[in-house]
Amino acid sequence: MCALPARGSLESLRFDNRFVRGLPGDAAPRNAPRQVFGACYSRVAPTAVAAPRLLACAPEVARLIGLDPEECQRPEFAEVFGGNALLPGMEPYAACYGGHQFGQWAGQLGDGRAINLGEVVNPQGLHLTLQLKGAGPTPYARTADGRAVLRSSLREFLCSEAMHHLGVPTTRALSLVATGEPVLRDMLYSGNIRPEPGAVVCRVAPSFTRFGHFEIHAARGDHALLRQLADYTLRHDFPTLGEPGPATFVEMFREVCRRTAVMVAHWMRVGFVHGVMNTDNMSILGLTIDYGPYGWLEDYDPDWTPNTTDAQGRRYAFGRQPKVAAWNLARLGEALLPLVGDVRPLQEALESYSATYAQAWRAMMAAKLGLSAWQADDEPLVDDLLALMQQAECDWTIFFRTLVALPAPDTTMDEDALLAPFVHASYLPEGLDAGMRAAALDWLARYQARCRADGRPLEARAAAMHAVNPKYVPRNYLAQQAIERAEAGDLSLLHTLQAVLRRPYDEQPEHEALAAKRPEWARHKPGCSMLSCSS
Ligand code: AMP
Ligand code: MG
Repeated sequence: MCALPARGSLESLRFDNRFVRGLPGDAAPRNAPRQVFGACYSRVAPTAVAAPRLLACAPEVARLIGLDPEECQRPEFAEVFGGNALLPGMEPYAACYGGHQFGQWAGQLGDGRAINLGEVVNPQGLHLTLQLKGAGPTPYARTADGRAVLRSSLREFLCSEAMHHLGVPTTRALSLVATGEPVLRDMLYSGNIRPEPGAVVCRVAPSFTRFGHFEIHAARGDHALLRQLADYTLRHDFPTLGEPGPATFVEMFREVCRRTAVMVAHWMRVGFVHGVMNTDNMSILGLTIDYGPYGWLEDYDPDWTPNTTDAQGRRYAFGRQPKVAAWNLARLGEALLPLVGDVRPLQEALESYSATYAQAWRAMMAAKLGLSAWQADDEPLVDDLLALMQQAECDWTIFFRTLVALPAPDTTMDEDALLAPFVHASYLPEGLDAGMRAAALDWLARYQARCRADGRPLEARAAAMHAVNPKYVPRNYLAQQAIERAEAGDLSLLHTLQAVLRRPYDEQPEHEALAAKRPEWARHKPGCSMLSCSS
């Protein structure tokens, strides 16, 4: 008689691969770059690497998939999640999708370096797809190598988990495994190609379906396959909406609009800039997906983009994200049109995005300011604050956190103490000038009057503000420092950041330094303020 695998062990993971079972695959799955027609995926195995070694794992994600976190330390874990071995039940594949990149239809893109290992069924019965990023080329790799460098993999691992703990809908990350192999990259696209250490992230999500999955079949006029994918998505990703049909496809689209609005409002709340909001990087579940040249807002500037490729057009700048999401949703709506037959209900659902987003933004700004609810005349208060923050170059995270400590409205105190949120958060080398000080004092007086009218007790307001305004975010320069140390073999900062970012709303006095403003040296340093798509 065979012994059963121990509960929580790697061998005990149970797979139920609905995507490959329920949708048509590539009839000729040879692993060479090409156009793949009539299929939602191609079966392809990860390419083995020289020396897989675990650099970090997320115990919470291990538990989520039903794995005992101790299991991550086994050599077998690094073998599987570095791409050298498969567990029983895994059926690896790369998905076919297209996308609009920077506003232009780009044709077939697909998982060029992402390989889905399988859908694990967790102890609660939830299906979670395990996906390796950087596990070698697939039929969708075009001219690229299918690999990922340590710096980009570490950034994805660290940030996607931090986003989860910040309460932002996101794909998760189980592990970061070094491949032991170099990858050639031109980090700044300056003609300076150098070998960098390679690494593989294992991402986890209930579904990795993107807007582009639908767009590719619509663009090719393959409406039968489009319909199959829509049926599948409705049944598995939106099971409460009912039987597939034109009306439920509209409801599905409306739900994607709603979730996308909620996701983007969270991005704005925490100061996250995705950097490459192409339609192939938009999740049907409204999850933040594909962490590339993303960045964290330091001084408030709606025009800021971390992505050097976007420096000219600033299409994906912080303040444009809500509008770009609507543009992307419109492309998804167009792709679904052949299945719905009538543009009006789709148009109407798309319009719900703006209303949902506007409502989410107002609720979010009221919460950031500690107000129990948004009132119709709060708009000038918020607009004036944003204008002031931009002028005074105030750090998005530090400002709101410091505002919490503003004393009770009726306490008389000196100007400097009152101005603390602006002064502490400002990046202006000379500090605030007289005009800015006067404007800030005026705003603070209005804000205090508003808080008084709101009537919330001080402690309740402070607690509410602490719950939505994080103390710790994975600041660009911190991630860069963690990368430089990891490249030199020292993983301590990565692990410290991982631990601190697990509780981003808590004061952690021993880690006060990790909540500090960006130091001056990082202002223009590559990796800190500018990132390329090279990854
Ligand atoms: P991204 O800009 O990361 O969203 O990638 C756009 C497309 O390029 C997707 O189809 C990716 O899978 C593919 N891609 C990016 N980098 C690589 C790589 N190193 N090897 C193969 N495909 C890649
Ligand atoms: Mg992508």
